[in-house]
Amino acid sequence: MQIDAALPSGRIRVLDATDSGGIRLSLPADEGTPFLCWYCFEATGPANLFRRFVIENASDSLRGRLPNRNGDSHQWNGAGPVASYDGIDWFRLDHAFDGRAFSFWHTPRQERVFYAKFPPVWPAHEAAQRDRLASLPGARHDVLGQSGQGRTIDRFRLGEGPLQFWVIARQHPSETQGAYFLDGLAERLALPDADSRALLAAATLHIVPNVNPDGWTAGQTRATPAGVNLNREWNSAAPAAEVAAVRAAMEASGVDVSLDCHADNELPFLFIWPSENVPSWTADRRRPFDLFEATWAAANPDLIPGRAYPGGCPAQADLSMGWNWIGERFPQALSILLEQTFKDVSERPDPVTGWSIPRARALGRSVIAPLLAEARRRATA
Ligand SMILES: [Zn+2]
Repeated sequence: MQIDAALPSGRIRVLDATDSGGIRLSLPADEGTPFLCWYCFEATGPANLFRRFVIENASDSLRGRLPNRNGDSHQWNGAGPVASYDGIDWFRLDHAFDGRAFSFWHTPRQERVFYAKFPPVWPAHEAAQRDRLASLPGARHDVLGQSGQGRTIDRFRLGEGPLQFWVIARQHPSETQGAYFLDGLAERLALPDADSRALLAAATLHIVPNVNPDGWTAGQTRATPAGVNLNREWNSAAPAAEVAAVRAAMEASGVDVSLDCHADNELPFLFIWPSENVPSWTADRRRPFDLFEATWAAANPDLIPGRAYPGGCPAQADLSMGWNWIGERFPQALSILLEQTFKDVSERPDPVTGWSIPRARALGRSVIAPLLAEARRRATA
């Protein structure tokens, strides 16, 4: 069995691949951090021969769980890997966790198979997404800055409206759901669609599709290759270059709505959450969020309202996180955290694909509805 993780976004360490019925693997952590869970590799061996993969150090990742996460629903339960023969169409595999190791198994129809925690974003897809955003009617592309390794932090602006709506994605590189969400948003904006047109007349939409291109390229879980969690940099006087670039552009434009796209490893649902409990928070800021959430849920049944972090929002907001920093710096803004899932939406399960590229895209197409509702609310407020 040949295992190759030297691909874009690739991640796995091979301990022993001589027995296809017990391929021993481990997960390297992001350099200088305890973050590990992303894996992505290609395995080549005989077709129609049973393969069992065992990630022996999976439980190491459970030491870094967020507060209030003591239940069984950690990231290795109910999160079968995705597999693909062509790197485009993905399906889920059966899996097990024994308290230490995470294993999954597959008898493939073909010799070569990709396996990953969630569908990765290949470089060709990344380039196509940039082209698609740049070719939308009236799109303006600019470079906000450079990553630590010199990659561009790109922004695409659409529409001419006076409101400033921001959508940023992939501060955490393994949360590729944000890329597929933006594919859906771009699809919708390309249509001669009355709601899209109305939104872009009311608002200027700023899209930053990839805040952490270095981490994405290197197959990191949450950090940059320099070991920096970008979503803990926002309140710093001298943040990492990626955050500094986005922050400066937000200061220049102002922010009326911000949507920061993430994905949660553990939760079997999607949720959005306002920047509640930032020092400038007032109770009347909740109503626009409730309208946004209800409008979005009406447009997409995968988003079930009223969900949030287990245990609720911390009473003291962490201003080093992007969505909180934005909500504090721009108190008139509706600053929202979006968390998609690596698993599935438990009320609407799809056993074949789980949460998937098509469903993330559909979520992206549907976000026009709440953005437009918020634009209209502001026009009449
Ligand atoms: Zn995240």
